[in-house]
Amino acid sequence: MPLYAYRCVAGGSAGLICADFEVQLAMGSAPSSLPCPACGAPARRRFTAPNLSRASSTAYRLIESTQRSASEPAVVRSPVPGTRPAGNMTTNPLHRKLPRPD
Ligand SMILES: [Zn+2]
Repeated sequence: MPLYAYRCVAGGSAGLICADFEVQLAMGSAPSSLPCPACGAPARRRFTAPNLSRASSTAYRLIESTQRSASEPAVVRSPVPGTRPAGNMTTNPLHRKLPRPD
């Protein structure tokens, strides 16, 4: 369930923050105001960026592996199994008749 952030502003127009608190509620069920746990006055909901986990995203893993390989490139001792050997770029026999560089 997402966390919803609320802020109680004591005195309203004074602009002083009485309490900041977060409540875990079902998605879409957060009211626009909740009673403040410190003073009981209605605290307005704050709109914050969703706190989504980036740890499992493909983009995050790509960034991680790019940063790692920048300082310590991965050592490859043999071709990746299932790939064609280097130099044999095409299997079309007509391509063998093409002129070759000397
Ligand atoms: Zn308060």
